[in-house]
Amino acid sequence: MNNFEYRRASDTKDAINLIHQQEKSKFLAGGTNLIDLWKYNITNPTSLVDINHIAELSEIKALPDGGVRLGAGFKNADTAYHPIIEQQYPLLSKAILAGASAQIRNMASNGGNLLQRTRCYYFYDPEVPCNKRVPGSGCPAKLGYNRIHAILGTSEQCIAVFPSDMCIALAALDALVNVEGPEGKRTINFADFHRLPDDRPDLDNTLKPGELIISIDLPEKGFTTNYSYLKLRDRHSYAFALVSVATAMELDGDTIKDIRIALGGVAHKPWRSKEAEDFLIGKNASAENFSTAADLILKDAKGFGHNDFKIKLAKKAIIRNGLMALNPDTQLPGAKPSA
Ligand code: SF4
Repeated sequence: MNNFEYRRASDTKDAINLIHQQEKSKFLAGGTNLIDLWKYNITNPTSLVDINHIAELSEIKALPDGGVRLGAGFKNADTAYHPIIEQQYPLLSKAILAGASAQIRNMASNGGNLLQRTRCYYFYDPEVPCNKRVPGSGCPAKLGYNRIHAILGTSEQCIAVFPSDMCIALAALDALVNVEGPEGKRTINFADFHRLPDDRPDLDNTLKPGELIISIDLPEKGFTTNYSYLKLRDRHSYAFALVSVATAMELDGDTIKDIRIALGGVAHKPWRSKEAEDFLIGKNASAENFSTAADLILKDAKGFGHNDFKIKLAKKAIIRNGLMALNPDTQLPGAKPSA
């Protein structure tokens, strides 16, 4: 039996104050990953601060600069099916709907999606060492069964991947994360929000203690014509990505004017390569050029045995998704299931 205190925050300031009153406090939004972590004894909060009733977190609104603000407490499903998101950010809608199950998407919040923890099997097994769970204890995945693990940005300490689909699209869209904490408000570029493991794999992101995600800003440019999200996984639904790719392009005829390629399932954070994107700008949107870009993205990729296949899989996925983005109607069935 885990006893805990439940407190409901009335606004963001109240939430930030409440979270500081007990050392082992956690914010509660959808709770979907929190319950997993709690059941496996990875976390044991003594106090939950419920942020589900804070109006500011539950809105979605247009910004004066043409972008859109997503409340951190807005649900994943409501976001994916919102007309503004479907029409202005279809890549984001597709990516969200490729994730989890309908039931989980109905509960999970946007802020929580950014904060979900790795699905490394060793991380969820308190009987074995894990540097992410117990710093300095070791990483059994490196020499163990590592089929789902990272091929890019790994460290001696950890080879886990970040499991989100939504965040891969947010990385491609250059979203911004608005946070508030004891020291005030700040905005974090999406590329800087999640961390590589380095020598602190216990830290998944750059949030400071007690900071709360308030909202996520989407820039005006939503790439509504040429986009695609491809998720390759062991099951067709309710499975995490082995490799996923979000591609967003702006074309002038056959020539690429702007392009973003973000990969999921391959690293401790959504993965982009400026070198590869710069290479593609001004080139034809051809399989050959996507293949060269894939080689640039994956030039430092390294497998750990069971996951070696991901390197080839990622290359094929980058090429295929680039071509699918030329005609979004070719997206795989199931990428956007009916409600
Ligand atoms: Fe832990 Fe990371 Fe190693 Fe998995 S890969 S066992 S999360 S240290």
